[in-house]
Amino acid sequence: MQTIYDLTYEQMQEMLVAHGQKPYRAKQMFSWLYRKRVTSFDEMTDLPKTFIEELKQEYFIEPLKEIQRQVSKDGTIKFLCELKDGSSVELVLMHFHFGDSLCVTSQVGCNMGCSFCASGLLKKQRDLSAGEIVGEVMFVQKQLDAEGRRVDNIVVMGTGEPFDNYENVMHFCSIVNSDLGLAIGARHITISTCGIVPKIEEFTKGHYQYNLAISLHAPTDELRKKIMPIDKAYPLDVLMKALKAYSENNHRRLTFEYILLHDVNDSDAMAITLANLVRGMNAYVNLIPYNQVDENGYVGVDEKKALHFYDVLMKHGVKATLRQKHGDDIDAACGQLRAKHERNKKSS
Ligand code: SAH
Repeated sequence: MQTIYDLTYEQMQEMLVAHGQKPYRAKQMFSWLYRKRVTSFDEMTDLPKTFIEELKQEYFIEPLKEIQRQVSKDGTIKFLCELKDGSSVELVLMHFHFGDSLCVTSQVGCNMGCSFCASGLLKKQRDLSAGEIVGEVMFVQKQLDAEGRRVDNIVVMGTGEPFDNYENVMHFCSIVNSDLGLAIGARHITISTCGIVPKIEEFTKGHYQYNLAISLHAPTDELRKKIMPIDKAYPLDVLMKALKAYSENNHRRLTFEYILLHDVNDSDAMAITLANLVRGMNAYVNLIPYNQVDENGYVGVDEKKALHFYDVLMKHGVKATLRQKHGDDIDAACGQLRAKHERNKKSS
């Protein structure tokens, strides 16, 4: 059994044909699933009853259920949900002046091993299927429906490395982006990668309109290798070359994410090296406040320091933004809530 959310529009058409149905029914099914947002096949009243019975033998709709939620004073909601096999995933819903933004998880655990991140505390168990990620969006959208709100933006920045689960993540994007379904614009979808170069190259060739964000966090290989093991496989010169090719081919602006870590990557010299690395590219640096993870000993910087770093970048010709802190009073760091939950499961 798998979730019906796994199927892209084209796959839905193929499935229909394989069941002796007309491919135009894909439009009906996308409408039931993503516009009317039904929770059972029986509600799809314009489908033949016999076909509905066949669907029930092979597919279910909802892949996840809520097991815990934390609500922050600033309105950020963190959900911990369980998949059919008992794995848990986290979702974070943030409210911005430009709309509601949802951070989705792409893998159960993560193998990238970035030393500052809570997700890596639990190794990857498996990739999520496209439909399980779609299910994350549908789970939240169905809650927002009651308030007449919608998921306006999606960031694939939860637990996991999206480019280590490339095909499923691209299918996920195509499903939520489909005009016949949720119709979340490509430019409202951001994929964040730690820098898996062959997949960046594949993404470049696909000419997708989704936004690409790169977790950089260090402007030299010496430091980056220490905090992000991926840099050993794809050092900065290789990464930057692939990113330049991406911007030139796609004419899209890149985002470099840079968490400011006290006494690690926050000096003026680092800011200048970072500016030298990025200057001239169609890109900006998003400075991210660090969500403290007790297990790894890093500390964030105060606002004054962050503003100073920002100023040095701007003075050296690189555009930057300072990300607002969200969900400071809840377990907001990627993977933090799940890591706690898994530990509690083991100790109980
Ligand atoms: N693997 C992908 C996506 C998941 S991480 C990637 O590396 O981009 C999403 C972003 O959150 C990354 O920029 C990551 O470095 C950052 N991040 C991880 N732990 C964090 C923490 N404790 N505080 C702030 N940002 C964190």
